[in-house]
Amino acid sequence: MRVLLVEDDAMIGRAVSTALRGDRYAVDWAADGDAAEAALSTGDYDMMLLDLGLPKTDGLTVLTRTRRRGLNLPVLIMSARATVESRVGALDAGADDYLPKPFDFDELGARMRALLRRRHGQTEPVLEHAGVRLNPATREVRRDGVAVALTAREYALLHALLERPGTPLSRDQIINKIYDWGDVVGSNTVEVYIHALRRKLGAEFIVNIRGIGYCLKTGNSHGASTSAR
Ligand code: CA
Repeated sequence: MRVLLVEDDAMIGRAVSTALRGDRYAVDWAADGDAAEAALSTGDYDMMLLDLGLPKTDGLTVLTRTRRRGLNLPVLIMSARATVESRVGALDAGADDYLPKPFDFDELGARMRALLRRRHGQTEPVLEHAGVRLNPATREVRRDGVAVALTAREYALLHALLERPGTPLSRDQIINKIYDWGDVVGSNTVEVYIHALRRKLGAEFIVNIRGIGYCLKTGNSHGASTSAR
């Protein structure tokens, strides 16, 4: 999951980035409204965490323009503006949730998981496919009931695949979901993580759709191969 964090307070920005990376999110941090809009125009994000009081372009304007451009990613406002008017204004401008500052990281994490669930039309908090279960709240992964240890990026990749089991993710989309800005990405990185997940979850669990990308094996993965690449 790739998150755009928009926050001008360096201390909060650092703390939230660190907490989110600990929760296995890839995080890009923009410190003003213009940087946020630049990031949104180039990046593919699963969610935006947006402060309202920002230098250059304020958060409400960023939000309004984001929706006007047709971007439908979940937006969670984190703001010290605690009035009812401010909350109502942001929600009516297209925000999905509003978390008043100061907040607890556990609550932020739970609200993010709820937004991501809704985005993918899930009712169950636990993601499950072909005997593999992933619990986003505990970050626990089990295969046929047995706990499986995954690295942070293996987990992020599995999470992305489980959200849309039959829909292939391209190599670029996968990189987008598991890396932050500034990370160095090796040329065979995706293949390495796919290989690791197949080793831990079963060779047949992930299929390669030639020329398109990777998805989980479903009943209608016709024409898919489970070749190493
Ligand atoms: Ca601020």
